[in-house]
Amino acid sequence: MQNQSKRVVVLGTGGTIAGTAASSSDHTGYRAGQLAVQALVEAVPALRDMPLEAEQVAQLDSKDMDYATWQTLARRVGHHLAREEVCGVVITHGTDTLEETAYFLQRVLGPTKPVVLTAAMRPATALHPDGPQNLLDAVGVARHPQARGVVAVVAGTIHGAIEVRKVHTYRLDAFGSGDAGPIGCVEEGRVRQWRPWPQGEPLGLGVLEPDPAGWPRVEIVTSHTHADGALVRALCNLGVAGLVVAATGNGTVHRELETALLEAQAAGVRVLRSTRCLEGPIVGREGDALPVTPLIPSKARVELLLRLMAGR
Ligand code: ASP
Repeated sequence: MQNQSKRVVVLGTGGTIAGTAASSSDHTGYRAGQLAVQALVEAVPALRDMPLEAEQVAQLDSKDMDYATWQTLARRVGHHLAREEVCGVVITHGTDTLEETAYFLQRVLGPTKPVVLTAAMRPATALHPDGPQNLLDAVGVARHPQARGVVAVVAGTIHGAIEVRKVHTYRLDAFGSGDAGPIGCVEEGRVRQWRPWPQGEPLGLGVLEPDPAGWPRVEIVTSHTHADGALVRALCNLGVAGLVVAATGNGTVHRELETALLEAQAAGVRVLRSTRCLEGPIVGREGDALPVTPLIPSKARVELLLRLMAGR
């Protein structure tokens, strides 16, 4: 069952899905963010008869994603979701920072309609591009009547915004959901669901400071062999407001780095402890002086950014 008469809005932001290379056999030497989102939609014959709108919000390689683009994107998504005739929004995005944008939109908008990010690992000019199928699957999820929240649809798999993570540099199935596993899959346009859709109380667009240049500085530092506190102290001198430490293993931090982080925390910097491990949350450290998050470092940074703005 799909929302037959309602519209899907496809917002383009660039990425490899809109990328072009000089040769159809080149999957790496391409430029991301070259084709307009309208052209991506028109390249999928099965989308021609569907009620769709396409809007270009940005045109960038997602490695260069920035707060101004996030703010514009969140506003445009919010605008379209509020339209009664729109059943869902699809966002074409680069794979590199997709997990951050997904988390950001889920926390800010917490939508009750689906917001589906999709991407590609091969440019649109490839002999066998993955973007058109991913876009078609994403629209299928956006039209699914039960779908809600921010998800990513890539390689036939539906990942939730909280768990989704890029896990491979090259293969088409480049995303994972860790221990939680995916929400479901898309088969011949049909959604097969295994886990609930993302939910949660949104912070609201009002949490975003109007001038993105004024968003607090939040950085990630990594614990590793011979880590000392020099970087943390340098960041404090730069006026950092929040620090995420990508800890080793089950949340362990080099003692030199830990000392610097505790000093920073005592001076008013908000610190969150995440782990470098690819899977598993930090277990049993809840009462520690450096607060723990189950989020991966890139998402913990977004969470801290939003909490800092919410507290201002
Ligand atoms: N660098 C590209 C981007 O994130 C990679 C991709 O889309 O696959 O925009």
